[in-house]
Amino acid sequence: MRVLVIGGDGYCGWATALYLSNKGHEVGILDSLVRRHWDLELCVETLTPIAPIQQRLQRWQDITGKTIELFIGDITNYDFLKVALHKFQPDAIVHFGEQRSAPFSMIDREHAVLTQVNNVTGTLNILYAMKEDFPDCHLVKLGTMGEYGTPNIDIEEGYITIEHNGRKDTLPYPKQPGSMYHLSKVHDSHNIHFACRIWGLRATDLNQGVVYGVLTEETGMDELLINRLDYDGIFGTALNRFCIQAAINHPITVYGKGGQTRGFLDIRDTVRCVELAILNPAESGEFRVFNQFTEQFNVAELALKVKEAGTALGLKVTIENLENPRIEKEEHYFNAINTNLLDLGLQPHYLSDALIDSLLNFAVKYQQRVDKNQILPKVTWRR
Ligand code: NAD
Repeated sequence: MRVLVIGGDGYCGWATALYLSNKGHEVGILDSLVRRHWDLELCVETLTPIAPIQQRLQRWQDITGKTIELFIGDITNYDFLKVALHKFQPDAIVHFGEQRSAPFSMIDREHAVLTQVNNVTGTLNILYAMKEDFPDCHLVKLGTMGEYGTPNIDIEEGYITIEHNGRKDTLPYPKQPGSMYHLSKVHDSHNIHFACRIWGLRATDLNQGVVYGVLTEETGMDELLINRLDYDGIFGTALNRFCIQAAINHPITVYGKGGQTRGFLDIRDTVRCVELAILNPAESGEFRVFNQFTEQFNVAELALKVKEAGTALGLKVTIENLENPRIEKEEHYFNAINTNLLDLGLQPHYLSDALIDSLLNFAVKYQQRVDKNQILPKVTWRR
């Protein structure tokens, strides 16, 4: 298949592009490289030294003989997007190309607007380009489990059947996003659903949990193929961030009580889930939603797991409960359904001590690159 990976220079996108290329698909990467720019602007850096995208792709070709076509540009620029799509002629578009940090979107009005314009306009442009010239192409769009919030009932995969006043219907599951970023994903979901209902496009919304891990078979082949790994207070996510904190002898930062429960998955499952979605496309007119995570943990539980694994490796690990910079429930019910991808054949890599060990060792290896000033959260949700 011809698969265009939008956001293919980022954490999930890079691993996915190489994985699909290795599997024999014809892969293209489209990316504006804006994430590297945001890092510079905020003075944060990935723990791992990532090479320029052109060097990464050259090394991939040298090692495997496989070519990945590169399109550098911004999908909010419709003319650029159309030209790239016409040149590449994708069967499937995998769309990772968004501003994906909740704290970034909550810095101030400018960052909220930037996030929503970047994300909503980019996705809308893809939908219009598909409507005009690629109506059979399958859009595989990265959403987030954070779209649902933390309702006091089970979270279904995108839709819920409701009986009301004696009548029954299956309707989109209610959304209660917790940041301006998560709101942008909800807006995207509505726009994509509309495009499927009204124009007959086909799309799969992958409501992904928090991704952890850094190595995949492909990104581990060579130092120049290394993936990014964020630890800072803006882009660092739970577990990845905790392992890096433990490795450099910084207290693990749990926000509030730590009872916040979320879905999580290994990056090796992210790439496989995307492949499963591509190989089993949605029907024309269908807006399909998969909850893409493999296990649920609360944040305090994860911190303890990292502490145990770190102590076993001889590290001195402490846990600190910080005042929560976010406004969110710290103790709540959370039970999300995730059977669609398992039914398609996903065999999860569950979180293991071995994985935590490997992340800790990775972090120890690159510890001299850590800027300790960037670890604590500086953005608050409060007025
Ligand atoms: P990332 O920041 O590492 O990568 C995103 C990439 O998209 C970057 O390379 C960036 O330059 C590119 N991009 C952004 N806006 C663009 C635009 N307008 N045009 C072209 N390229 C653009 O993020 P990630 O962690 O790989 O996340 C990828 C996707 O997965 C996001 O949509 C995110 O919401 C979703 N997701 C990620 C996680 C996670 O734990 N990392 C969890 C749930 C969902």
